[in-house]
Amino acid sequence: MEQVAGRPRVLLDVPMHYCPGCTHGIVHRLVAEVIDELDLRERTVGVASVGCSVFAYAYFDLDFQQAAHGRAPAVATGIKRVRPDLVVFTYQGDGDLAAIGTAEIVHAAARGERLTVIFVNNALYGMTGGQMAPTSPAGMRTTTTPEGRQARAHGYPLRMTEMLAGLDGVAYAARVAVTSVAGVVRAKKAIRAAFQAQLDDRGLGIVEVLSTCPVGWGLDPVDALRWCETQLIPVFPLGVFKDTASVDHAPARARRHPAPAPAGVRTRAP
Ligand code: SF4
Repeated sequence: MEQVAGRPRVLLDVPMHYCPGCTHGIVHRLVAEVIDELDLRERTVGVASVGCSVFAYAYFDLDFQQAAHGRAPAVATGIKRVRPDLVVFTYQGDGDLAAIGTAEIVHAAARGERLTVIFVNNALYGMTGGQMAPTSPAGMRTTTTPEGRQARAHGYPLRMTEMLAGLDGVAYAARVAVTSVAGVVRAKKAIRAAFQAQLDDRGLGIVEVLSTCPVGWGLDPVDALRWCETQLIPVFPLGVFKDTASVDHAPARARRHPAPAPAGVRTRAP
């Protein structure tokens, strides 16, 4: 009998610790499927961050390194530079990537490190009790903003993927949501493209995945999916913000490979 579905080889057959309705498990599966399909299992290294996904290394049948909070891009840079033949990815939450680790991801992106970054954004700190994160939308109630996030007091949410897409070292940047079957299909396509950017030696690839945190949001799993669609997506629009493999990305290519100035033309102020 033909088998049409099954567990990816890269995903271990062990129970996950995530709360019911948490979409981290879906993202893990998509990453595992892409690594399987690209036949990268024997040369891929993951870097786990601090947060709810801190135990990612326990679920993937891959070499994995645990990084200190926010430092996954720095650790991944070291691995990739020592072993450029390896495929290296980080798996980070919004508290990790967009708060304590902002400097690491910005500079890894600016350097154009050949890394793949899976950025799971659920708009709060899940592991430590649901505190406000840099990605919490205005008005969102968290344990540290019980009246809702106020821009005047707490600032505005960071749209990290749009910011990073503006850096020349970034080859691929997209935001997806895993709240529907169509969304899951698009998420897998984006994750594959981000790995392909590394395989093509084009630069850093990042996929931001809008993910649910039913426990932190105080919602049941189904309502959490709807809340993500109605409250998060309007603040964090979905789409591909940059893809240097696309024919539409001539400006990015021009910046990376500027045409030589004609003889006698000054390109810089004296
Ligand atoms: S606290 Fe939130 S993000 Fe963390 S495992 Fe539970 S549902 Fe998922």
